[in-house]
Amino acid sequence: MSTTYNNPQTLQWQAMSRDHHLAPFSDYQQLSDSGPRIIVKGDGVYLWDSEGHKILDGMAGLWCAAIGYGRDELADAASRQMKELPFYNTFFMTAHPPVLELAKVIAEIAPPSMNHVFFTGSGSEGNDTMLRMVRHYWALKGQPSKKVIIGRHNGYHGSTVAGASLGGMQGMHEQGGMIPDIVHIPQPYWFGEGGDMPADEFGIWAAEQLEKKILEVGVDKVAAFIAEPIQGAGGVIVPPDSYWPKIREILAKYDILFVADEVICGFGRTGEWFGSDYYGNTPDLMTIAKGLTSGYIPMGGLIVGDKVAEVLKQGGDFNHGFTYSGHPVAAAVALENIRILREEKILERVRAETAPYLQQRLRELLDHPLVGEVRGLGMLGAIELVKDKTTRERYAGKGVGMLCRGHCFNNGLIMRAVGDTMIIAPPLVISKAEIDELVSKARRCLDLTLQDLQG
Ligand SMILES: *Cc1c(COP(=O)(O)O)cnc(C)c1O
Repeated sequence: MSTTYNNPQTLQWQAMSRDHHLAPFSDYQQLSDSGPRIIVKGDGVYLWDSEGHKILDGMAGLWCAAIGYGRDELADAASRQMKELPFYNTFFMTAHPPVLELAKVIAEIAPPSMNHVFFTGSGSEGNDTMLRMVRHYWALKGQPSKKVIIGRHNGYHGSTVAGASLGGMQGMHEQGGMIPDIVHIPQPYWFGEGGDMPADEFGIWAAEQLEKKILEVGVDKVAAFIAEPIQGAGGVIVPPDSYWPKIREILAKYDILFVADEVICGFGRTGEWFGSDYYGNTPDLMTIAKGLTSGYIPMGGLIVGDKVAEVLKQGGDFNHGFTYSGHPVAAAVALENIRILREEKILERVRAETAPYLQQRLRELLDHPLVGEVRGLGMLGAIELVKDKTTRERYAGKGVGMLCRGHCFNNGLIMRAVGDTMIIAPPLVISKAEIDELVSKARRCLDLTLQDLQG
């Protein structure tokens, strides 16, 4: 970042950051040295920083802002609810209208056999809830030894202790430790790990690792398998077409629960309400957050299938919950967000028009010398940066992803770097003209990155 500033306040804010703020997923030394970019405003698919730069947000915040920034309707819904009833809990036999209406609306858009919702404050809390709920479920069914949850390497399920343990991020496991009875299988990341295998063959191999793990642990010990329909934070990893059908076949053979972490894929990101709908998967539980409120206010939850809900309903107290479970203001905002998604037919437009266009335009980048693969579906995309397109060899140790991300930020585009994979997940409301802008800015930043590598 340049060290001359248009706005004297930028430096003041950066000093506050250095002196007082411990930010999530940050290198504190680096953050002190360079100071954060200060984001001050959002409208539609654009953000503005404190220096007055307008930036196309190719990441919808953090996969959140489905309906885009600046929708007054959500602010008005929050304001109305705050004036009427800003808070009440949903513990001990009480409820309030927004939480009940939201549970009903979510059941309407969820798959047919999923009709109940447990609300939380975040996606991580949703997965913590899942862990406690599935173990409780099996205990109620008289099989308390079914405790083990199978996740995937490089999966992301949040940052609470359970979330980090369920996820397969080694850097997270190394800090703070893991809780017991969680194991991981390989991810279906063909470009990164498929070697010489054709993609479909690799997809089958990766799915078979689930069966292998179930047999290794013992089906009498396995409670559940958790997976994102498409891994998000891991690098927008779209599994080979053979993967999910094979996983479904394996799940049908063994009596374990299937949890879809829909925190990113849910609420329209694939063009369907849930990533599970897109793939034809039928999970027993689905974790939600992010797009649920378009990120305007924190809220998450766990959608619970009838099979599990019926057992819970006969099981006495479930000793679990959060002060903010089903918070009325968050519920009012989520209701308004879902109303907009439905009434403005945003998913229909994504499916029919803008997602196919985004995917087609993104794939044009494949002719760039740095690009080894472009993949994606719906409003999700990934661009693999390589030194050699045919061998998929990387520019080792150059931090090419971060280099490219820096050029993007400086040229009015937010793309995130996961290693040397550039990823995007723009607001679902992005227009074709804005997609053109995103792709042409991306190409320019790839050129600048390549120049750095050659220079
Ligand atoms: C972001 C994310 C989470 C965690 O949600 P938080 O609200 O940050 O706790 C869980 N799962 C997936 C797939 C996510 O992308």
